[in-house]
Amino acid sequence: MKLILMGPVGSGKGTQGGMIATEYNIPQISTGEIFRTNIKNNTELGKIAKEYIDRGDLVPEELVNKLVADRLAQSDCANGFILDGYPRNLSQAQELEKLTDIDLALMIDLSEEKIIERLSSRRMCTKCAQPTSTDWMVDGKCEKCGGEVYTRDDDKPEVIKNRLQKQAVPQDMIDFYKNKGVFNKIESRDTKEETYSVVKSILNQVNND
Ligand code: ADP
Ligand code: ZN
Repeated sequence: MKLILMGPVGSGKGTQGGMIATEYNIPQISTGEIFRTNIKNNTELGKIAKEYIDRGDLVPEELVNKLVADRLAQSDCANGFILDGYPRNLSQAQELEKLTDIDLALMIDLSEEKIIERLSSRRMCTKCAQPTSTDWMVDGKCEKCGGEVYTRDDDKPEVIKNRLQKQAVPQDMIDFYKNKGVFNKIESRDTKEETYSVVKSILNQVNND
C-alpha cells in the first residue's frame, strides 16, 4: 500500500500515519520528522532546513525531493509506505510521480479554529518521535512509550499563523490526485481512535479494489 497523507498542520496526519504504520507494518516517512532529526544532530541539511522551518516556511523543493527519493529507494519501502507531509504542493506531487504510483492520497481536514486549539496542546516525544498532546500524556510523559516530551519551536503562536497561511493544502495538488482517481478526504474527529476507524474503512476499500 502506497499512501500519501495530507491535510492542514495539526489535522492529525502524523498521528494517523503512526497508527497505520504500526498496524500494517509499513514505514511512515515524515519529512518534518526527518528535518527535526537532522536539526537535532546539527547536520548540513538540518542547518539549512532550520531557517525555513523556524519561520513556518516550506523547505526548498530540491532538498525535500532528493530526501524523499533517497528514502523511497531503501528496501523497507518495497511493500509500501506512508508519506506524511510530502508532497505538499503540485510540483512535489509531480516529482513523486516520477518515482512511483500512489494507491491513495488521503486528506485529513480540520477547521482553522480547531487547528489552533490543538497545536497549543501538541507535544512531541523525544523517544518515539510521535506527536502527542497534553490531553493524552500520562504523568507528563508520552502515553505510548513513557518518553519525555517537548514543544516544537514552530508550534509557537507567531509561527503557527504563518504556517496556516502559507501551508494550506493547494487545490491544484488535490485536483492532480482527483484526476488520478486516488483522492479521498475525511474530517478529523475529536479523538484519534474515532478518526482512525474512518481512515481504516477507507484503507479497506482501497485494499479490496
Ligand atoms: P505539520 O505536521 O505540523 O504540518 P511537519 O512535521 O510535517 O509539520 O513539517 C514541519 C516543517 O518542515 C514544515 O513547516 C516545513 O517547514 C518543513 N517541511 C516538511 N515537509 C515538507 C515538504 N514536503 N516540503 C517543504 N517543507 C517541508
Ligand atoms: Zn513516545
